[in-house]
Amino acid sequence: MSDGPDDERELIARAGRVRRLLLAGSSELNGLDPRATPGLPRNRPKDIDAKTWSRSEVGRLGQLLGARQERMFARAKAGVDRRRLLLVLQAVDCGGKDGTVRSVVGSMDPLGMHLKAFGPPTAEERAHHFLWRINNALPPAGYIGVFNRSHYEDVLAVRVKDLAPKSVWRRRYGEINSFEDALVNDGITIVKVMLHISYEEQAERLLARLDDPSKRWKFSPADLDDRDHWAEYQQAYGDVLDKCSAAAPWYVVPADRKWYRNWAVANLLLAHLDDMRPTYPEVDLAVDELRARLAGNQVRTDHAGPDNDPPEPPA
Ligand code: ADP
Repeated sequence: MSDGPDDERELIARAGRVRRLLLAGSSELNGLDPRATPGLPRNRPKDIDAKTWSRSEVGRLGQLLGARQERMFARAKAGVDRRRLLLVLQAVDCGGKDGTVRSVVGSMDPLGMHLKAFGPPTAEERAHHFLWRINNALPPAGYIGVFNRSHYEDVLAVRVKDLAPKSVWRRRYGEINSFEDALVNDGITIVKVMLHISYEEQAERLLARLDDPSKRWKFSPADLDDRDHWAEYQQAYGDVLDKCSAAAPWYVVPADRKWYRNWAVANLLLAHLDDMRPTYPEVDLAVDELRARLAGNQVRTDHAGPDNDPPEPPA
């Protein structure tokens, strides 16, 4: 694995191409093949399987992500930059949100990450505007935030399960656009990713959860109720892509192949983080003086002889 500057430039250029290819163009999700692999390099070594290749590539991309994450974090700590990045992950059940977080986000420093999963709103959350809990969960300056589900559930689950009247959820597309616009103006780069799996793949993953006792805890019979509304969810996702791409675009990642999904999301993050061009902050320190002071400390410790030793414990 070589990580020279040429290699880095090549990876960044490729990330930009992957980003362009995954940009959501139309609401017609049915026309997008969930097994497709847009942007995959043709010159992959033939002697290693796709999974192994992807794991090693995500590792290389992770190093570039980690370096940029650290610079962004350092700038915020120094008080010179408030920018942050927010990855919004949406998918139907078994779409692979958790796996993506583990694989891609796991390659960065957990101390600079801000993760939040959104389930059905609590009683307190329901008593507020639907964006209240979202606003409370935004990443602080310098952090990379990840939303596992998001405010989009309020025009997806809420719409499909009929949890609010149409007059209410229909208004929300515009509210979401204004909200995201304000976030972007406040220095948040929003990367919205829909993981696109097929109906067949979802059945396989649900079955795998039932078959494997160590995965059974993840199975919820309610997932089957949602599956009965597959077409409505696809329609609702299509409307989200159509109506809510103004402030920050959507990317649709074909996600039947987990190894492609991880690789693609790592590329999307790199393309956006690299665009932010974070650099280490200028630090105003009297380095020579501080070095000399440290050297002084060193001398004092050297002089700490037997007189300074703690007393022997009583026998
Ligand atoms: P996941 O399926 O993401 O692993 P959970 O099993 O906790 O996690 O499921 C989250 C559930 O919460 C999903 O069924 C989702 O539709 C629902 N949910 C999330 N946000 C909302 C919301 N605002 N209104 C209604 N349901 C929501």
